[in-house]
Amino acid sequence: SKNEGRNRSSRFTDRLRDLARERVHTEPALRQGIERGELVLFYQPIRDVAEGHVKGVEALVRWNRPGHGMVPPDVFIPLAEDTGIIGQLGEWVMTEAIRQLRRWRDGGLVGSDFHMAVNVSPLQLVTPSLVGVIRRLLAGHGLKPADLTIEITESTMMSDLASISNALRALADYGVALSIDDFGTRYSSLANLRHLPAHQLKIDKSFVAGLGKNRADSTLVETVIGLARGLGMSCVAEGVETAGQMDLLRALGCDLAQGYHLGRPQTGPELTTAWAQPLAP
Ligand code: C2E
Ligand code: CA
Ligand code: CA
Ligand code: CA
Repeated sequence: SKNEGRNRSSRFTDRLRDLARERVHTEPALRQGIERGELVLFYQPIRDVAEGHVKGVEALVRWNRPGHGMVPPDVFIPLAEDTGIIGQLGEWVMTEAIRQLRRWRDGGLVGSDFHMAVNVSPLQLVTPSLVGVIRRLLAGHGLKPADLTIEITESTMMSDLASISNALRALADYGVALSIDDFGTRYSSLANLRHLPAHQLKIDKSFVAGLGKNRADSTLVETVIGLARGLGMSCVAEGVETAGQMDLLRALGCDLAQGYHLGRPQTGPELTTAWAQPLAP
């Protein structure tokens, strides 16, 4: 009835108002949370597909918000991007990830070819300071540019290509590796790949999920692996959850893989303990 429709629409506007109110409260809480040390990095192993060794980790941020538990990044990264907090947040993530790599090196737990991958929002790349910050951090910790990989999502990158290409070029010239995250999930022009100083394509977990089950997904995974090889880039499959997916990736010649089957994201201290065991990793 007409009445029901009105109720439904007022419930909808109530919900929108709640969401807006929640955002208004969350923004200052996030700002304070960063200053109070409430952000935590988890690290997920990235393994060599052929050999199984851990070749690096990807840093994944969470917000240990009092009264809310571990808040996943999908909830607060978009807010941080909309409100300009992303610069401060991204710098914290970069600093913490580089410190952690230094600690693992010092402890003799990782080799000299082990790399740290950090997600960077394209909004961070339009601010000219990021490249300087990265240089200072790496040099200050006695690390080389190749120890760091920066992951950037394809979709946002392509729409802003002009404004971020200088920063990407500067990072690539310096020697930092650039990985294109969520490759193939949004609109993109393959021609753009020629203009990007990219070193790696990261196959999105939505394609990996259909590997061996779904003809179209299997073809897409195979094609991205071939594309990476043809362009002289490495490829990483993310979201690997089964031994069967791993076998297929090995048969297809994928270089690297990451997923719950190969290791869940864990805190720095957790991984340190695991890697200090006699048989690890
Ligand atoms: P992403 O970069 O595509 O990261 C992969 C996501 O898949 C992570 O979720 C990871 O925990 C999850 N994952 C790993 N293995 C598996 C698996 O086998 N199966 C399934 N279903 N999922 C798996 P998470 O940690 O919630 O991160 C979500 C997104 O948040 C990331 O997607 C990334 O885009 C963003 N993000 C995370 N940390 C940062 C950061 O420090 N800065 C920025 N700008 N973005 C970040
Ligand atoms: Ca990523
Ligand atoms: Ca992804
Ligand atoms: Ca993603």
